[in-house]
Amino acid sequence: MGQFGTEFCDHIAIARYEDGAWQASSIEPLKPLPMHPASHVFHYASTCFEGFKAYRWDDGKARIYRLKDHVARMQKSAASLRLPVPDAGMLAEMVRDLVAHHVDDIPAPPSSLYLRPTLIGTLENIGAAAAPSSEATLFVLASPVGDYFSGGASTLKLLVEEERARSTEQLGSTKTGGNYAAALGPTLEAKEKYGVDQVLFCPNGDVQETGAANFLLISDDEVITKPLDSTFLHGMTRDSVLKLAADLGYQVNEREFTVTELLQLVTTHEAALSGTAACLAPVGTLVYRGEEFKVRDGDAGPNTEKLRKVLQDIQYGLAADTHDWLTQVK
Ligand SMILES: *Cc1c(COP(=O)(O)O)cnc(C)c1O
Repeated sequence: MGQFGTEFCDHIAIARYEDGAWQASSIEPLKPLPMHPASHVFHYASTCFEGFKAYRWDDGKARIYRLKDHVARMQKSAASLRLPVPDAGMLAEMVRDLVAHHVDDIPAPPSSLYLRPTLIGTLENIGAAAAPSSEATLFVLASPVGDYFSGGASTLKLLVEEERARSTEQLGSTKTGGNYAAALGPTLEAKEKYGVDQVLFCPNGDVQETGAANFLLISDDEVITKPLDSTFLHGMTRDSVLKLAADLGYQVNEREFTVTELLQLVTTHEAALSGTAACLAPVGTLVYRGEEFKVRDGDAGPNTEKLRKVLQDIQYGLAADTHDWLTQVK
């Protein structure tokens, strides 16, 4: 497997919204999409996506992680962009059909099949800046991916950014391309200037998240993270970790915290980023106003590792799926 996201299965699932209705979906060979240069998405960024994984267990069957929840999040993203909202049953079936088609191409755990449903506005109109795209294409890409931690679990270094925001109030919890475009400049600048891996966006001191992952603080007995609001993406990994932590007896504190408090908390708490690609990745260092702050001793902590393993054991079929998060295919 090449780098994450660079290798693709040779089919996609695809459906079009035309004449006010979703047309029948199909599995088609992967090839370039013919697109009109005036397509709404090229000019007005009418696009959203999802990202989640399917695992192939020892029994040869695939299990898709939190399919229903990802479909629901995609519907929410589509609605916020005023794109035609995919029917939940249709999108789930597209994903299941594609996974079934490629079940033998899924590498064994800890590798997996990354799934990327994508919705784009295809209305041909460059005068539609203030109008929704009444036509759309929905497709699902599949990409075999390896284990994020195959190179060893080194810790991440984050820049604490207090001035700029990752997104806007109206699109903070929408999984849409424009948010990554907005985070890219600050992230590249921070990489160059401070040698960090990511930027932790904390506008006006409010600790939110990085460009593509949620942020958690973890100790022997509690997990702290920002409560759900419209400023950040509601990660399924975040939600899963919180539920499993509660099962294990950790106190789950979904609460606001400031940068000042954060710098104090990391002397006693582990810090981690959560997201589908990396699951739960340990943070070792924060850079704030040009100064470095170690998270505890700067190494990966035992609670982060424990919670990651508890979640991955469910995904890999090594522990019971007590929350009914997996959808079996074939
Ligand atoms: C996708 C994403 C996450 C993580 O969500 P998961 O469902 O856990 O993969 C977090 N933040 C942003 C901005 C994201 O785009």
